Parts: sequence; C-alpha cells; structure tokens
Amino acid sequence: EQMNEEEKRKYKLGEGTYAIVFLGHLRANPAELVAIKKIKMQKEYTEGMPPDAVRELKHLQELHHPNIISLQSVFSSKDQNVNLVLEYLPLGDLEMLIRDTTNVHYGAADIKAWMGMLVRAIWFCHENFVLHRDIKPNNLLIAADGEVKLADFGLARGFGDIHSYMTSNVITRWYRPPELLFGAKHYGGAVDIWSVGTVFAELIKRAPFMPGNNELDQIKLICDAIGTPTDDNWPGVTTLPEYTVPTQNPVRGKDFYMYQFGTVGPDGVDLLIRTLALNPKKRITAREMLSHPWWHAEPKPTRKEDLPRKD
Ligand code: ADP
Repeated sequence: EQMNEEEKRKYKLGEGTYAIVFLGHLRANPAELVAIKKIKMQKEYTEGMPPDAVRELKHLQELHHPNIISLQSVFSSKDQNVNLVLEYLPLGDLEMLIRDTTNVHYGAADIKAWMGMLVRAIWFCHENFVLHRDIKPNNLLIAADGEVKLADFGLARGFGDIHSYMTSNVITRWYRPPELLFGAKHYGGAVDIWSVGTVFAELIKRAPFMPGNNELDQIKLICDAIGTPTDDNWPGVTTLPEYTVPTQNPVRGKDFYMYQFGTVGPDGVDLLIRTLALNPKKRITAREMLSHPWWHAEPKPTRKEDLPRKD
C-alpha cells in the first residue's frame, strides 16, 4: 500500500486549512481510486505530528460506519509529511447540491434520506464518545452510490471526561451552538446536534439558516431566529463566561417554523425544533433523533441510488 510521489501528485482534489487532497490509487490495485490527504507540516510542529492530523487519525481509525469516511491506511512521504489514504468520494458534497439551485432539484424525500445518513453518522460518533465538532454541508461528502459520508475529523475529539477543559473555538460559526458562542468549557454531543439542526434548516431553505458575520452577529441571529437564551429557558446560561445578548426575544413557537420549513411536514418541523433547543440539556440526542416519527411519516426517504446528484 506504499505509494510514491508521482502516483499521488496526478490530480489535486482540493485544499483545506491543514491539508491538500490528491487523487491517487493503490499500487496493489490500480483500479481502486483513493483520496490522499497530505497534511501540511507547519513549522511549529517540527517535533511530531500537527495536532489536527493526530486527531483525525486517532478518531477515523476507530470509526467504521457506512456514513463515515473510511481511512484505509497512513504513510509518510520522503518530505516527512503524513498522508492519510481515504476512500475517494467522487460526487462532491452537500453544499454543492444545496447551492446549485439551477441544476439540482430536490424535495422532502431527498432531504429525509440525506438527514437519515447524517444522523446515523453522528449517532455512531457519539456512541463511540467522539465529538465531530465541524458538521456543515461541505464536510458531508457523497460516494458514487449516493451515500453521504461525514468527513474532516480534524476538529474531532473524545468526550466523557467531565473534568477536562475543552476549547469553545470549534465549529464553523454559522453552525456553532449558543453554548460555544457563550464560551462554555464543558460540553457534549449536543454541540454536534445543533449543527445537524442548522444543516437540516439549510437543506430546506437552500441557503444558510443563520449566516453570522462575526460571533456577536451570530448570537443576534440566534436570538432573532430561535429566541434569546435566558435563565428561564436555560438555567445557568447567564453565568457562562461570554454570555451576552443584544435583545430579549421570546422563544419561537411551532407556527413560526411551520411557515419557514413546512415543506418537511409537521413531524419534520418537530424534529428540527428539537435539534435547535437553546439549552443543550434539552436538545434532542442523536439516539433520540433516530426514533423520531418523521422517518416513518410520508414521504419515505429516497433510495440512495435515486438521490439527485451533481453532473
Ligand atoms: P476542508 O475543505 O473542510 O478543510 P479537507 O481538507 O478535508 O476539507 O479537504 C479539502 C477538499 O478536498 C474538500 O473540500 C473536498 O473537495 C476534497 N476532498 C477531501 N476528501 C476527499 C475525498 N475523500 N474524496 C474526494 N474529495 C475529497
């Protein structure tokens, strides 16, 4: 499974903050395409591997699930770089589908299928005590058979140790829950669930639900769209280190969501509301999401091979 430089430099698939991704293939089986994620070595980490790469490796090695990108092997190249060999997912990501409103048409059954795959991925992470911490449409990659796979575990970490300090500077702003915006240092799976809710809303609206320009603006958008977090709806919130709210808005009722998101039906809207509970303790869990009535309501989720795709 060793790969040489020429083989992997063929074709660049993309570039992220800490890695460049190339298309490659296995020497043992040249027909099998893989994505090679070459971790950029920063000067600060001349000793050992960059922490993002260590996290991605550690968590992906442990998680084997159809809706989580699979890590096939790891190798280091001559230049001391760490390279992750990942399954190649050729059909882009959910963000591309959401944005391409001229060519891509989808409805409630398709959203249900994509959401089902996302929720199963998150459920599996949480069952294994891994927080993803960067769920967003652009990290949901699409396999040749239409299966959605959660990728980019660079910000993932284990949880369960309530005594350990955790950084609140995670999750892309638009998908970031209020507890992180308020600087909570202890948090759990609920942070990912909020992101799942914002992705759900974005799939329906075909535009980011709460696209804040900065952290304060993000808090304002949450107060306007969902309601202002207060000690009444979230006991203790005002004691969080960076608690600050611009307005005092009541928590929105079901009618407000039905008006904006009614295309997924009352059960879909009920599920959406539960994922966007301000108080993380009241937010639905991944396991509870899986037994929600929406999955069995009409319409049935689209079969993965029939899902809309980019051309
Ligand atoms: P990010 O852009 O979130 O930092 P990555 O660093 O993981 O993401 O990857 C950069 C880009 O490379 C992605 O946006 C995607 O277009 C592409 N890419 C990553 N992994 C794969 C894969 N397994 N198969 C196909 N393309 C991929």
